[in-house]
Amino acid sequence: MTSLNERTDAAGHDAAGHDPADYVARAERVLPGGASGSWRSYDMEVVERTSGAHVWTAGGTRYIDHILAWGTVVIGHSDHRVNAAVFAAAQQCDLTTLGPQRGEVEVAERICSVMPSARSVAFCVSGTEATLHAVQLARAATGRAKLLKFHGSYHGWHDMLAVGVRAAPGREDRTDVRATESAGIHAASAADVVVVEWNDSAGLAEAFAAHGRELAAAFCEPYVQSYGCTPAEPGFLERLRELCTATGTLLVFDEVKTAFRHHLGGYQAICGVTPDLTTFSKALGNGYSVGGLAGSRELMDGFRAGHARGAVMDGTSNASPYVMAAARATFDLLADGGIGRLAALGERMREGLRREIAMAGVPACVTGTGGSWALYMLPAPPRNYAEALRQDSARMAAYNPRLRQLGVMEPLVSLADRRVCVATSEDDVDETVAAAGRALRDVT
Ligand code: PMP
Repeated sequence: MTSLNERTDAAGHDAAGHDPADYVARAERVLPGGASGSWRSYDMEVVERTSGAHVWTAGGTRYIDHILAWGTVVIGHSDHRVNAAVFAAAQQCDLTTLGPQRGEVEVAERICSVMPSARSVAFCVSGTEATLHAVQLARAATGRAKLLKFHGSYHGWHDMLAVGVRAAPGREDRTDVRATESAGIHAASAADVVVVEWNDSAGLAEAFAAHGRELAAAFCEPYVQSYGCTPAEPGFLERLRELCTATGTLLVFDEVKTAFRHHLGGYQAICGVTPDLTTFSKALGNGYSVGGLAGSRELMDGFRAGHARGAVMDGTSNASPYVMAAARATFDLLADGGIGRLAALGERMREGLRREIAMAGVPACVTGTGGSWALYMLPAPPRNYAEALRQDSARMAAYNPRLRQLGVMEPLVSLADRRVCVATSEDDVDETVAAAGRALRDVT
């Protein structure tokens, strides 16, 4: 076996002449597409330092970050209060995987006190795990197999709901509601999913008329953030709730992006419609990996060991003390004015962007809620994924990199939401708005 030294020359270059400081070249040799994930390898910036609302690349460029790790960073990057809580927890007790951990009790109590659907909570590690557990729990509780979901909404990478999702990077945006997220999805699994267009009340009624009694669960993002920011039209969530109740279908709100960011109790605390089950993840950990489910005691008791019609919830790293410490600190910072600040910054951003769009005279629009927003190259907000796909994607493909050149880090994909964190300053917002104005003018 050759040692690392034997494979490099005096200047540190390897046999192929690669500069060891060039992480992109090195990554391309040892990671598929150069990163651990399709959504990472479409945007190959190497970020080496993060603080508050900003990130710095290996080349020293500073960006105002509005990707914020796709929503997991809600307080701010490398927040010293969250990190201190994590360090203290890890110093005291790392992992046991026996019985409850103190932190998990405290975080579950906090969620139950504010989230309308939550009487009982269980933690896992990611959003994908949360929705996977929700599917199994719903199937166990109802004895039914089929699932309903909405076109364009993403619920994680497992087979169960990866149908009719918004396109992954490098794949065509698709109007085909039966398209699967990935090759390798089991056809039988995909066949069990009924896909409806968001805000299509007639399509929803038809789907329930045809499949209502076979559905274990209907999944939705109560405020869609999979392809920008697309609210439910008045009455749509209420109608979905009624149809679920009438047919014995469990209503699952996938609040992976919305919970703890728009309201501590989730978007359900804002819209007034209460689901049977809630899945959550991202913002709860301020960057530390946490996911979970919430629901009634009766439903969630399906996870009890030995339950006759139960589903197994197991995960070696579920509710690890250091992650629960991050969650408790994040929750408390959000409760202590954080959520209000996100909403105020988000409003300032949306108003500023609308002004710039009007001044640039570009057929674009801005949507959003709380600290999240989306800009579409469409004259009016889309009601669903099919309408979002009609945006001027060439103009969007020019706008995103222009914004990046101007020091603002937003996703380079055509349909995506953007966000602020509590550490974002008013100046950061104003700088972003000014850069957006310039980028809009440059791409007309
Ligand atoms: N549901 C929604 C609504 C999401 O936005 C995501 C991730 N973007 C997931 C589920 C999957 O979460 P994770 O990436 O943590 O597995």
